[in-house]
Amino acid sequence: MNHGLDLSAVLQASPPSDPTRRIYVNRNLDMAEIEAVGFDMDYTLVQYKQRALDELTIEKTIEKLVTSFAYPEEIKSVKIDYDFIIRGLIVDKKTGHICKVDQNRVVGRCYHGYQMVSEEERLSLYGSKPISLTSDRFIRVDTLFSLPESTLMAGIIEHYKQKGEALPVNTGELCMNIRSAIDEAHCDNTLKAAIIADPSKYVHNDDDLGPTLHKLKLAGKKLFLLTNSEHYYTEAVMSHLLDGVLPYFESWRDYFDIILVNGRKPSFFNDPNPFIRLDQHGNPLDEVVSELAPRQIYSGGNIHDLERMMNLTGAQILYVGDHIFSDIVISKRSAWWRTALVIQEMRDSVTQTVNHAADFNRIYQLDQAARQIDDMINYQRTLTRSLERVQKLIVALTSPETHVIDSTRERAEKEIEERKKQLNAMLKEAEELEAKVDRSFNRYWGRPFRERHELSHFGAQVKSYADIYTSQVSNFLFYSPDQHFRAERSFLPHEREHL
Ligand SMILES: [Mg+2]
Repeated sequence: MNHGLDLSAVLQASPPSDPTRRIYVNRNLDMAEIEAVGFDMDYTLVQYKQRALDELTIEKTIEKLVTSFAYPEEIKSVKIDYDFIIRGLIVDKKTGHICKVDQNRVVGRCYHGYQMVSEEERLSLYGSKPISLTSDRFIRVDTLFSLPESTLMAGIIEHYKQKGEALPVNTGELCMNIRSAIDEAHCDNTLKAAIIADPSKYVHNDDDLGPTLHKLKLAGKKLFLLTNSEHYYTEAVMSHLLDGVLPYFESWRDYFDIILVNGRKPSFFNDPNPFIRLDQHGNPLDEVVSELAPRQIYSGGNIHDLERMMNLTGAQILYVGDHIFSDIVISKRSAWWRTALVIQEMRDSVTQTVNHAADFNRIYQLDQAARQIDDMINYQRTLTRSLERVQKLIVALTSPETHVIDSTRERAEKEIEERKKQLNAMLKEAEELEAKVDRSFNRYWGRPFRERHELSHFGAQVKSYADIYTSQVSNFLFYSPDQHFRAERSFLPHEREHL
């Protein structure tokens, strides 16, 4: 069927030497046991040019804030720092602060506008206990689609702060108005129309995507698309990306065994929404769907019927998505699907990690050395206390004995002082080095996967819920479709110490 198609590049490809294109493994995943691979579309198969999309979204949102929400015209002149927001932050509607939370849900650092909130204020607001991320008070910045929302909020807060004026509304309203304005821009197709009109401006081309999907198909995997986007938008963007890329695959539809739009994730994983077959224009056809035919497009649907119609269950299905909650956490919790998370930002993150390998090594060595010095200080402290007790207990000490004990204590105390200075110098060097490394990732928030010494909340979610993760779907091209992705063994400290 596929005569004339050159497969040599596909079949001979091997794991990439470029670390930004590797697939990283949290839990063992044997692709030989995977019968079906499902894909989300936005930010998964389709990767957007973040800066261009942020600019478009913010421009359209500001227009809506002025026209639909009666915000003053001056917000059109708000200066936006597009590097300000990263994924994984949370927005506090009550204060307008944007916070980075660690794996224990403790707020590590926060900003009001573009100014860092003092440690004193942060501790008085959030303390050092876990905060409730399910509370209505907080909004999570879970996807790259949500970056403009928080970027604009910080910009508006900063604008009024610099002018020394109060915001036109309170921070809770500001948050909700921005969200409503963005939703309006999504729902009335303002944003999508602009993307469809000039897809090359907003969508990254990926020459490896067609061959990657084809390679998985050749290996016998069923491929399905499960997106929340509407029919017309899916058709337009996927056509731009895949139509005519490979011979015998004229249409993007030819790559998939099942195509589901308007998937309504996360509801797809929890509720019995029906499948509705659509005609070629996206209009619903009045019929009961009992099987999912290739090259047809269906709207809605639910996981239970999808698994039944594919005759597959959780562990045989790999779902590839970018939304940590809707795509990964829910599919893992509800159905035990195997999960691959696409993290577009990993290209930068891995590059910076490689560039700073020597710095990370130095920080690690400083940590190890500091722990050893702590042990030395503790030993000398124990010694001086023991000698104090000896002196109190034995009243009849001779003068030479007292002298020996006193001089031993003095030596121990002197050593404690010297070790403390050494320890402080090490901790200072480690802290300064870590701050320098952090700034190179993002000058406000540092590394996306970490908060100080801990994993960030985002990093912890990636570790807990994504079996594998990578920067883009087409990185699968460099691996066998039956690859056994193997995780590193994990160790507790008492085990690692003795390796
Ligand atoms: Mg997505």
